[in-house]
Amino acid sequence: MITVWGTPIVATVEQVINDLKLERFTDGLLKDINNTGADLMCTCPFHKGGKEKRPSCGILLKEKIDGMRKYEAGTVHCYTCGYTADLPQFISDFLDLGSPLAGFKWLVSHYNYSAVERAPLELDLYRGQAQAGTCMDDVDVEHYHHELLNSEAGCSYLYRRGLSDWLIDAFKLGFDPVDNVVLFPVRDATGKVAFYKGRSIVGKHFYNAKNVDKNAFVFGLYELCNKRFSQGRANENSEIWITESEIDALSLIDRGEFAISIMGSHISEAQCRALEGTQFRRYVLALDNDDAGRKGASQVKKMLIPKGFRFTNLQWETPAKDINDLVRLYGDNWKTYLKKF
Ligand SMILES: [Zn+2]
Repeated sequence: MITVWGTPIVATVEQVINDLKLERFTDGLLKDINNTGADLMCTCPFHKGGKEKRPSCGILLKEKIDGMRKYEAGTVHCYTCGYTADLPQFISDFLDLGSPLAGFKWLVSHYNYSAVERAPLELDLYRGQAQAGTCMDDVDVEHYHHELLNSEAGCSYLYRRGLSDWLIDAFKLGFDPVDNVVLFPVRDATGKVAFYKGRSIVGKHFYNAKNVDKNAFVFGLYELCNKRFSQGRANENSEIWITESEIDALSLIDRGEFAISIMGSHISEAQCRALEGTQFRRYVLALDNDDAGRKGASQVKKMLIPKGFRFTNLQWETPAKDINDLVRLYGDNWKTYLKKF
């Protein structure tokens, strides 16, 4: 795992460069890749038409501190033409994406999130969003909840997703009728809504909070610790399912399981600390049924097994892409398509 722009990316520099090479395979660029321990050396794509004989382009494998300057992993420097860029800039130049931000999005969408439909870096400020370090007013939370109860479109979106009324009520899901966005409240340890995760019911947009460090929260953790669901209250022997999206966690809770969502395929250190602060140590890894989900699951284990957490893995005997997909496809038989090991 590397850190780019302060964000953990679930990949190595080598992996990223190899994937970039494949993206433009027919151009024959980034050849003679050689790992020197500190750098990855390869042919520079920017001079001599990318056909230099001796590789002179160095790419940092790890973060490097040089005097006062810090170079993140993936920083590129060509010793021949002088081209220098950080990884997002390099990706943007190499794939002609137009901006370093586009290069950064490419990274996140390739390695941190599973479904292509997801736009995890959606920069739209969610209206009514809490400022940094503050919470939403209870009045606003009630208001958005009321909007949902009054919205046929909002409710039917959730019903189509297989969620039921009691859950909408228990979690106080909300709706913004102006933007047609269903709102999932993410609560802090005191039960206050720190921010909303939003899902557009018309497009496939995801809305993320701005000015809030979403990595510091676990969706459903407050509810798990404080509420009674169909199984009653969770205790230290309970098995808790960990999912990527909120809707996956809700699907499980609706079917009598205990579940939380880490809101992505990657768990942050702050989220690990939040879990450590609870009595729960037994988990089922129910991240998405794809490569990012499997990578994410092994990352979760790597972070938490040393801290005494125990995990049950899942083998998916179905092409269903995630838990919500699974329960919608198979209804009450959903569990028969998962083998625990
Ligand atoms: Zn060069």
